[in-house]
Amino acid sequence: MSGKASYVDKHRVVVIGSGFGGLFATKALKRADVDVTIVARTTHHLFQPLLYQVATGILSEGEIAPATREVLRRQKNARVLLGDVTRIDLAAKEVVSTSPQGGTRTPYDTLVVAAGATQSYFGNDRFAEFAPGMKSIDEALELRGRIFGAFEMAELAEDPLEIDRWLTFVVVGAGPTGVEMAGQISELARRALTGNFRNIDPATARVVLLDAAPQVLGPFGDRLAEKATRQLNRIKVDVQLGAKVVDVDAQGIEVEGPDGRRRRIEASCKIWAAGVAASPLGAQLAEQTGAPLDRAGRITTEPDLTLPGHPEVFVVGDMLAGQPGVAQVAIQGGRYAAKTIRTRLKGKSAPASFAYKDKGSMATVSRFHAVASIGPVRFAGFLAWLAWLALHLFYIVGFKSRVTTLLHWTVSFGGRARSERTATLQQVFARRALEQLGSRPPG
Ligand SMILES: Cc1cc2nc3c(=O)[nH]c(=O)nc-3n(C[C@H](O)[C@H](O)[C@H](O)COP(=O)(O)OP(=O)(O)OC[C@H]3O[C@@H](n4cnc5c(N)ncnc54)[C@H](O)[C@@H]3O)c2cc1C
Repeated sequence: MSGKASYVDKHRVVVIGSGFGGLFATKALKRADVDVTIVARTTHHLFQPLLYQVATGILSEGEIAPATREVLRRQKNARVLLGDVTRIDLAAKEVVSTSPQGGTRTPYDTLVVAAGATQSYFGNDRFAEFAPGMKSIDEALELRGRIFGAFEMAELAEDPLEIDRWLTFVVVGAGPTGVEMAGQISELARRALTGNFRNIDPATARVVLLDAAPQVLGPFGDRLAEKATRQLNRIKVDVQLGAKVVDVDAQGIEVEGPDGRRRRIEASCKIWAAGVAASPLGAQLAEQTGAPLDRAGRITTEPDLTLPGHPEVFVVGDMLAGQPGVAQVAIQGGRYAAKTIRTRLKGKSAPASFAYKDKGSMATVSRFHAVASIGPVRFAGFLAWLAWLALHLFYIVGFKSRVTTLLHWTVSFGGRARSERTATLQQVFARRALEQLGSRPPG
């Protein structure tokens, strides 16, 4: 260990993660008489719902991932520590993290664990090399390289079968992320890239959206699923349901239908938007407390989000069992934990249990078309798209990012341009390079 992060006499709150849960918990402690240390493995706060727009060249990574220290610069009681948390020692009340500078032990009086989730390949991790997920800026930029790179390779290829393979894009998982991704690739091919190539017509690209489930956007209900499917068909996305992925390689993907028959889709560019697994820190906490884990590795807490026998440790966001993996669960959980900390420090009794208020869900299908489910109200089309736009703009962190995002949306949705098409060779080959170095993609 190279160091021990120490604080003096104030109550020490350590927050793991700078995502929605971690950042909103930290901000809600702004006026509390505490010292907050936010430990995260990236230097930014990531707005995951817009990662697909980075991958498809609409937004820049900076717009959806502001530096955490910039966001917290005015919050004097908070400091940011770069580190990959490898261990939480509940007995010693310390968080152990590593960085290129070595190891750090950060002691706490109260701990908020908000380390989120990673992609799950349902036990087939080898698929990741051929079908990257979309959980981080690294992955979104790698996908950007693969998507735009596929059109470039098609332009160079001469064999028609090879051209078809480069111009076939397969998105696995027809939840909101998969639907948004498939819709955007289709619009990229049919609108944004018009006139850009000489040997190929990008509009002939085939975009396939696969899911083992019988309908798209399951949690949105039958009516919205039907509307979304119709719109996907309109923008020429080939929706294939009841199709379970059984193998993925560099050249394509193999799927099994409900009748057990297998078939192959030749495609160079595959994107994995199915399945999540909670941070492995959840398993560590379960081991130390006996709290149960669900199949996705999410932990069951007490009703007040603390661990059994450890009222000083909160778990919020995607690591929580029994709650949907959405931003609002993390935001509300982070704020609830902060409120409980503040109340306890005042010697008052804390709010007894966390109750998630469902504010609804939305997903864009294409330009000018989204689906929205808000309480009993379900609607689709242009109005839903406007509501989606306004909501996302509201939650993007920072005024500058809001302004530039709005500008990029105007350029991309009002016109045809994608201003963020740059993809370097390092991005395209980043995964392999990192694997050769023996390190895990950091961000
Ligand atoms: C592509 C995509 C699209 C989505 N779209 C929507 C949407 O439209 N609407 C919606 O409501 N939700 C959406 N979600 C889900 C939403 O983003 C998550 O529910 C939310 O981010 C969870 O917040 P969190 O704080 O629990 O975790 P995260 O936001 O994932 O944050 C986790 C943090 O922990 C850090 N971390 C992880 N492990 C460690 C470690 N060992 N050491 C140090 N730091 C660590 C990470 O770097 C990160 O800062 C989407 C998610 C994805 C991936």
